[in-house]
Amino acid sequence: MIPGRRPEPWPYRCTGCSRPYPDDLLPYRCPSCGGVYDFSAPLVYQRPQPPAPDRRGLERFRDSLPIAPAAPLISLGEGGTPLLPVQVASRVLHFKCEHLNPTGSYKDRGTAVLISALSSAGVTEAVEDSSGNAGASFAAYAARAGVRARVFVPSSASGPKRSQIEAYGAELVLVEGPRSAASEAVRRAADGGGAAYASHAYLPHGMAGVATMAYEIVEQLGRAPGTVIAPVGHGGLLVGLHRGFDALLRAGVVSARPRMVGVQAQACAPVWAAFKSGGPGLSLVQEGETRAEGIRVRFPVRGDAVLDAVEATGGTVIAVTEEELLLAWDLLGRAGLNVEPTSAVVWTAATLLLEDLPDPVVAILTGSGFKTSAASRNA
Ligand SMILES: [Zn+2]
Repeated sequence: MIPGRRPEPWPYRCTGCSRPYPDDLLPYRCPSCGGVYDFSAPLVYQRPQPPAPDRRGLERFRDSLPIAPAAPLISLGEGGTPLLPVQVASRVLHFKCEHLNPTGSYKDRGTAVLISALSSAGVTEAVEDSSGNAGASFAAYAARAGVRARVFVPSSASGPKRSQIEAYGAELVLVEGPRSAASEAVRRAADGGGAAYASHAYLPHGMAGVATMAYEIVEQLGRAPGTVIAPVGHGGLLVGLHRGFDALLRAGVVSARPRMVGVQAQACAPVWAAFKSGGPGLSLVQEGETRAEGIRVRFPVRGDAVLDAVEATGGTVIAVTEEELLLAWDLLGRAGLNVEPTSAVVWTAATLLLEDLPDPVVAILTGSGFKTSAASRNA
């Protein structure tokens, strides 16, 4: 065993009853108590390979990922995204351009890890229930891995993201009723056996992929950021980033972790409500309409972990209005950054909090504007 290398299998444990992850069953939740799985130990950062013509992005961080050394990394060239300095008000903000990943969102980092893990475990058929960035990313990486993919979406789902899922050859299963009906249908399909539920929200594997974003940010800045601002839906993005910086701190690469700032849309802001109230547990909130569809999540799977990361780093959680995010979306476009409305919340957060944020300030642009229909922009 290489010194410092994590022994296999990677330790995933139920957050409810501490039982280890049963690799032979590949459940998305604990069969014993219904709890969600998470890593049972901190992530371990291994020095990356230098970039080379045939080695870039996630591939460089192969040794830091929870994939067996003998298993292939299912890759479409994700990672290695630019970190762009942009003048915002009186300060310079560094935008991590995750919208430039292969399927147009940061999800590709996590999906590469998750599909690699499922594929190496012998999975040949997998299901998902996202009609957004996660669904498109899942469909693409399943295609790359030769895994049969079915994506359960509300029958009302339409637009560029649905087209993208179909373009990758995934079977689209249309489910009548609200979004929750599609979630129930995908769980039934997974519980019936035969297909693994490749849930980006429930399965923890992808957070190790997201952590590579932190590794790249420190390489690109030449130091640790003072602040990192990220949209919060289920919370896997902010938590994965935080754990990446934590792994860098443990490895002695940086001497401090950045302040983590989570951003939600006011229309659906359970983590913000819990942060404001200061009480234990997440708050029950309404799920209102918002252009930030990528973070419209009423029951965030990693919500508690977001609050822990924010508290541990002296960060904060804020919520922005629709008016604020639309203005920011417009300004991002005028800065040459065509992103989805969900990504715009970080610009608003930065302008509202900028005086109080330690430099350098990094903000994550999560998804591409190419997936936003013209009708939506002009609505
Ligand atoms: Zn359990």
